[in-house]
Amino acid sequence: MNTSLFLQKLEILKKRPSAFIPAVEAIQRWVLEFEKTLPKQRISPVDVARYANLSVNQVVPEFLYGVLDGLFDLNWEVHCPQCHTITEDYQQLSKASRLSYCKGCEKEFETDFARWIEVTFSLNKEIDERKFTPLCAEYFASPPLLSGLELIHYPIFRTLFGDQVLSDREQMQIASVTVLFTDITGSTEMYEKLGDVVAYNIVRDHFDILFNQIEKQGGTILKTIGDAVMASFIRNELALRAIIDALEQFRQYNNKHCTDEQVHIKIGIHRGSAILVNLNDRLDYFGSTINKAARIQAVAESGEICFSEQVYQDAIFMQCLKERGMKNMSRHSVNLKGINGPQTVYKIRSHVVK
Ligand SMILES: [Zn+2]
Repeated sequence: MNTSLFLQKLEILKKRPSAFIPAVEAIQRWVLEFEKTLPKQRISPVDVARYANLSVNQVVPEFLYGVLDGLFDLNWEVHCPQCHTITEDYQQLSKASRLSYCKGCEKEFETDFARWIEVTFSLNKEIDERKFTPLCAEYFASPPLLSGLELIHYPIFRTLFGDQVLSDREQMQIASVTVLFTDITGSTEMYEKLGDVVAYNIVRDHFDILFNQIEKQGGTILKTIGDAVMASFIRNELALRAIIDALEQFRQYNNKHCTDEQVHIKIGIHRGSAILVNLNDRLDYFGSTINKAARIQAVAESGEICFSEQVYQDAIFMQCLKERGMKNMSRHSVNLKGINGPQTVYKIRSHVVK
């Protein structure tokens, strides 16, 4: 290993104004300590975070900036669901494909983005040219330390590697992801009463509040459709925290504005499988989970959070509801447009919203 080049690249990383120095130092210590025994030349930010007692969120951005600086290479590793061997790996998401083949198991499998794709980093070839030899189950614990799905939820990934998307028409299975939909109540009336300019500014304020809280909880804004927002999260309770904090901000916003200029939203949360696709050179999701989340949002009244049975079954989500003082939950059997048979939907009114 070319240690002086490694240290030189680390110095560049440290000079970045937004650098989190303890994380860069942790990377330095970790690599120098394990360099000789490093069996795989692959580094998981999760291992480094644990080693230095930091949060993974503090470490991942340093690795991503390290890729830009030529310190690291980013690897998307596909693991066989049966024997856990790496069946293939690539440095560009555009090389990903829905199916992979394991020679050992002589089986083709779906490369689930949340379960069977792990993100690791290796030292750039200029620094260390040792060849990587895939190891099996021994070092790949299931679930992955940092899954592909988790990485794409880092806003910094989108900022730095927004051009890393799947190739056209390619799709990737995702075992489960949380989808949040919100929409403004009575926006048509608002535009009529206040005129386009004033109403548009209020809608912009509303986007600012929502986007800010969604990103704070590691959510990704997938798209806006008119005044509606669609976002995804790794876990249910993150969507809930984002929305409760946003509702509190809307309460403060509304206190400062007259009735006509107040913002009220309705919310839907659902969790299920989806497929990751490339839509107009952006990562996007498709599938019945997305449709159902939108339909659940559509049955919410102003100030209500509606969620599905799948979300209700999540003990951490329910605990989070309790902790945030959300009471008066009700259970409903409703027909959702385009979905067969009555569906169970839970509704809760936020105490912060009238
Ligand atoms: Zn296998």
